[in-house]
Amino acid sequence: MNTFNKLLSIIVPCYNEEESVPLFYAETIKQEAFFHEKGVEFEFVFVNDGSRDKTVEQVKKLHEKDERVHLVSFSRNFGKEAAIVAGFEKARGDIVVLMDADLQDPPALLPEMYQNIESGYDSVATRRVDRKGEPPIRSWFARRFYGLMRRISKTDIVDGARDYRMMTRQVVDAILSMREYNRFSKGIFGWVGFDTKWLEYENIQRAAGETKWSFWKLFLYSLDGIMAFSTVPLSIASFLGILFCVVAFAFLIFIFVRALAFGDNVAGWPSTICVITLLGGLQLLCLGIMGQYLSKLYLEVKDRPKYLVKEEF
Ligand code: UDP
Ligand code: MG
Repeated sequence: MNTFNKLLSIIVPCYNEEESVPLFYAETIKQEAFFHEKGVEFEFVFVNDGSRDKTVEQVKKLHEKDERVHLVSFSRNFGKEAAIVAGFEKARGDIVVLMDADLQDPPALLPEMYQNIESGYDSVATRRVDRKGEPPIRSWFARRFYGLMRRISKTDIVDGARDYRMMTRQVVDAILSMREYNRFSKGIFGWVGFDTKWLEYENIQRAAGETKWSFWKLFLYSLDGIMAFSTVPLSIASFLGILFCVVAFAFLIFIFVRALAFGDNVAGWPSTICVITLLGGLQLLCLGIMGQYLSKLYLEVKDRPKYLVKEEF
């Protein structure tokens, strides 16, 4: 009879993962022996993010065999970020690890992650060193995004970082203390700080099912990330304003001197139209940026729940 003195919660956000869930469980449970030796017990927290397939049934089947399997099932699809929060809130573990259901986060890494926690790290993060098997255009945009983030945000957001992370209770509580509605986990993990160990591995293809992220969804998600962790876009308006004041002033002097020297002439209609449309466009752009932040603010102020639970055990 083993006596366990620690609990490891494995949080798994699932959206239409009926094929992956049993595979995931089977693969992950293989690591159990290592943890039992260390006196660590497992707990699974599957978060069903409004799947339209049989994901819930699959989790229930696992629960019948294994009581340590838990479920939080949403009333609809709230997105992976909401699923992560729900998982963190449900998890009771002294140590918590966040994993994708599709086995792109290799369970074989769990022992090494745990050893790092044991040796004193608060959090163990992973990043993939390549993006093999991904459409090149997606990789290109992803790299641009991380490059931009590094420049305009003070928070450390690492290129290729996965959400695959193991952390202590202290870090989990820190993350849960961030109550924001518009969540961007990669930024949140960096923002809370603590001693983080990075492990690297090569990209792994999905075990079953297909990716839930279209290019467009990822693009919008990256905008969320920028707005949640940087206010630089807001200063674009002020910067352009100053720039154009200087240009306008120089232009004014030029016209004034020219009028004095050569007299007034009416030509210059095309240039006038160009200036007007350019300025009009810039003003709308700046207004749009402001509108984006305002819309985020609007959602924060409404303080709606991040997710609604239909069923849990
Ligand atoms: N996921 C989710 N809600 C969503 C989209 C995705 O819970 O709205 C989960 C999904 O089931 C998977 C993880 O988030 O466990 C990562 O998704 P996916 O593998 O599709 O992303 P990719 O690895 O292609 O970036
Ligand atoms: Mg995946």
